[in-house]
Amino acid sequence: MVLRFYNTLTRKKEEFRPQSGNEVRMYSCGPTVYDYAHIGNFRAYVATDIIRRYLKYRGFKLKHIMNITDVDDKTIRNSREQGMPLSKYTEKYTKIFFEDLDTLNIERVERYPKATDHINEMVDIVGALLRKGYAYKGKDAIYFSISKFPSYGELAHLEKAQLKAGARVKNDEYDKEHAHDFALWKLWDKDDGDVFWETSIGKGRPGWHIECSAMSMKYLGPTLDIHTGGVDLIFPHHQNEIAQSEGATGKQFVRYWMHNEHLMVDGQKMSKSRGNFYTLRDLLKGKGGPDKPGNTAKPSGHDPMAIRYLLLASHYRQKLNMTGEALKSAKQAVDRLREFVSNARDGEDGEGIEGIAKKAKEGFEKAMDDDLNTPEALSVVFDFVREANKAGAGSRALEQMMDFDKVLGLRLSETGEWKKPEDAPEEIRKLILDREERRKQKDWEGADKIRDKLGGMGIILEDTEDGPRWKKTT
Ligand SMILES: [Zn+2]
Repeated sequence: MVLRFYNTLTRKKEEFRPQSGNEVRMYSCGPTVYDYAHIGNFRAYVATDIIRRYLKYRGFKLKHIMNITDVDDKTIRNSREQGMPLSKYTEKYTKIFFEDLDTLNIERVERYPKATDHINEMVDIVGALLRKGYAYKGKDAIYFSISKFPSYGELAHLEKAQLKAGARVKNDEYDKEHAHDFALWKLWDKDDGDVFWETSIGKGRPGWHIECSAMSMKYLGPTLDIHTGGVDLIFPHHQNEIAQSEGATGKQFVRYWMHNEHLMVDGQKMSKSRGNFYTLRDLLKGKGGPDKPGNTAKPSGHDPMAIRYLLLASHYRQKLNMTGEALKSAKQAVDRLREFVSNARDGEDGEGIEGIAKKAKEGFEKAMDDDLNTPEALSVVFDFVREANKAGAGSRALEQMMDFDKVLGLRLSETGEWKKPEDAPEEIRKLILDREERRKQKDWEGADKIRDKLGGMGIILEDTEDGPRWKKTT
């Protein structure tokens, strides 16, 4: 079978082959750490996670980089407003970002470089662009001159005429030669406060676009296999990354560009002014579509794996509409898979299970090979659930489901498995031990209260000859 990805650059599905051996050099635009990331951002990170997991599933070795933008207008403005050093401010939101990744079971990539640790690399690229005549010094910044780069606009499929029209209308507002010329290096002004670097190209700070070129090429070389991001980044961000990287190196920057579509909420673009703007943490607290009248999904907080399911169940190149109903069906879908796992742990494989598993595996791979068609792959998974249940599901069926979950990442292996108290998270372990203590003292009422409390946290206990064991109810 042939793995094919849709390439934004050529607007075609193309067979994917890395440039060298089976190692994939992949770069994904990461967060600007100035606030909590919203659920639309996580659609992009989950889409990237699926690409990553499927490449690994197919036997590729990953060298995957995601940048952390820890210096820009917003981080500087917010840290100054709060009277905090920039690094302290961005450290807080970087930590929150990683916690959110863990919540959604998004795998860590190989490296997360920070912009502020790579100023020298950025200065080197800007220096090369100045020398080669692609860049010029303006009053407030060093700009990239797009008219020096003939294929500018190619990624976004912009016509030269469109770019020229923009130039005529907007030219007077900027201290630059062309409206679409973009800042590579911003010269210091008083709003930057103590945020600046003294460098050979002047005192200032990097523009946003140059960060990605510098960090991707430092760790992956001049040519990347895959670059991912949301469709909103195609222009100008990714177009600018191409211009400045190829201008500096003279080599092709990216072989496959992969972009995910937007997430909508109740059919509309998410925005703070519409009141339909949600962070991941809002959803975990129960906010989101289901709060609305008429919706029956429980408002007491959404299951993180249901949120993940919702984010991956639509094809990454289709707009995704998040509604209360959609979250509710995502929860039901995940619960069906958990129930299957739980039953298969105690069940026995029936006649024909090998054939059913094999057919499902083939169908799943065929769908995923076709530009990561997750809706089709999930329908294969649910056909498998139906057929395996009918035939009798045991260890072979379970093994197949766990194989699917390497790609889906729904934490199905954590379902219904009995564990020892020492394997429980701190808070739960303390409660289990406390209950044991009370039982020793024959405080049955106190012990039962703790059992109820654990039940409320989704944990059930069983007392065995070797002591208590626990598992998650969901
Ligand atoms: Zn980027």
